[in-house]
Amino acid sequence: MNPISETTAISIRGLTVEYGLGRRLFGRSKTVKAVDEVSLDILKGESFGLVGESGCGKSTLGKAIARLIDPSAGTILYEGRDLTTLSSRAMRSERKNMQMIFQDPYASLNPRMTVGASIGEPLQAFGMSDRKAMAASVGRLLEDVGLNAKLATRYPHEFSGGQRQRVGIARALAAEPAFIVADEPISALDVSIQAQILNLLKRLQAERDLTYLFISHDLRAVRYIADRVAVMYLGRIVELGDAREVYGGPLMPYTQALLSAIPVADPVIEAKRERIVLKGDVPSAVDPPSGCRFHTRCPYAVPDCSTVTPQLVEIKPRHYAACIRISSEHPQIS
Ligand code: ADP
Ligand code: MG
Repeated sequence: MNPISETTAISIRGLTVEYGLGRRLFGRSKTVKAVDEVSLDILKGESFGLVGESGCGKSTLGKAIARLIDPSAGTILYEGRDLTTLSSRAMRSERKNMQMIFQDPYASLNPRMTVGASIGEPLQAFGMSDRKAMAASVGRLLEDVGLNAKLATRYPHEFSGGQRQRVGIARALAAEPAFIVADEPISALDVSIQAQILNLLKRLQAERDLTYLFISHDLRAVRYIADRVAVMYLGRIVELGDAREVYGGPLMPYTQALLSAIPVADPVIEAKRERIVLKGDVPSAVDPPSGCRFHTRCPYAVPDCSTVTPQLVEIKPRHYAACIRISSEHPQIS
């Protein structure tokens, strides 16, 4: 991949994350490569969307970037510093800069702590000690995410799902991070609430100059929020580009299939629309297909697809795809 000339916040090269499956076969423990040699750059101030079917490795990639899990290979440069080789003390101070928002805010909120205490915890961890100043900061954070400051004394179970996600966002903001990984932040919410949370994330990004890695299996949510988007399939990035390009002219058959599964609001168009239906389920990540991992489900696969591993190459300006049947000269498979 070409180096990107705009300011890069995070630069990932050859990132691989393996999970041990805990059982030993013939003396060797089996592993699953949830993320397989991923390289990408996230630019400062952008909202970078990561999409793909469940189980393709999105959360694993997000957690590895936020350094909540250790990669088995590769580098993660954050503003030039390699996070994979930092000591745990140095990492603690980096952690302030990168926070995570989860699908289930319960994951980051202690049910036995008031939400005020939960939001205040990172403030304390990063050096704030004055109680009054802390209460004021917590109140401001609650108001910033659209909640009444008085709610600080309540417990998570007293909140609705949408409010709880707002609290999760306030907690993530408390450390004043520059970079936020939002992993399916709206997937557990009612559809009516989803747009509110997306708008909140957008507003906060503009107000605070945040860089987002926005992870979702919901392509519509990603289209709404992302400047650029990467499509993942079985641990690999298969397409990457400006969101407008990827949504407007997807190159990969996989991306085309994902997009064709999004319902269109207009019932007349919806009825006439051609849909690309993928054959079968996502293959197991434990024993992924050789060559292009999508070849077992691809309507355009040729024999070479099962032996040659396609590289992510720039097909159109800033628009990359990993398919041996696609090139700059022939961006469309015929
Ligand atoms: P996604 O977020 O896209 O749904 P994940 O990153 O959660 O995907 O999972 C990617 C792959 O790694 C899947 O095959 C999943 O079963 C496996 N996996 C995820 N977490 C673990 C774990 N803690 N131990 C073993 N395998 C895991
Ligand atoms: Mg996930």
